[in-house]
Amino acid sequence: MFLIRFILRVISTVFHLIFSLMKLVVWTISLALLLLFVGQWVTGGQLPVASYLTELPQRFLSNPTQIPTDLTNSNSDERHRWDQNQALVYISTEDSTMVSAYRDAMRQWNQTGVFQFIETDDASLAQIEADVYSDSQVSAAGETESQTNVLTNRLNKAKVGLNAHYLSNPYYGYSYERVVNTAAHELGHAIGLDHTDEESVMQPAGSFYSIQARDIEVVRQLYQD
Ligand SMILES: [Zn+2]
Repeated sequence: MFLIRFILRVISTVFHLIFSLMKLVVWTISLALLLLFVGQWVTGGQLPVASYLTELPQRFLSNPTQIPTDLTNSNSDERHRWDQNQALVYISTEDSTMVSAYRDAMRQWNQTGVFQFIETDDASLAQIEADVYSDSQVSAAGETESQTNVLTNRLNKAKVGLNAHYLSNPYYGYSYERVVNTAAHELGHAIGLDHTDEESVMQPAGSFYSIQARDIEVVRQLYQD
């Protein structure tokens, strides 16, 4: 009789313990959610924990260090270029960081002396349109489309784009400098440059290079005559 009572007592104690632990867990989670909610409300959704949570799926989908600059296919031997070593650029995005990045990239090219980008606020005059888009379906930080006159082999229109899905997302860790490098890379395509594996702004693997001496020489040769 005593033994049964003792066993019942032990079982009862264990249940109480489990129940107390569950209560503690529920309270902890509730408190954490409440703090998160209040934190988000106070900071206007700027708590890093929230962006971590929303970006969680991406962490399993892709490695941030492996986003190529773009997927431009440049196998052709055709040397296409603008008629002159200058082009009018219309920046069609309102994103202030991207506008600055395009302007800095143009300034860097202009400082080389081999090509001049001139910004215009008249879209109808522009030879190159500089835009921003957001595309998670393509694993590239930018893109360039260009039209070439097949008879003269001269460029007559180009559109460059920066992919905000990667470049503006803290998770992918793009510094402003790398965004500028990406813009300089796309502008490089827009004036007729192809990819290279050398140390170059035209290296496609991740925007780690700005305009290099090699790039200046390639543009100089392309536009000499
Ligand atoms: Zn490229």
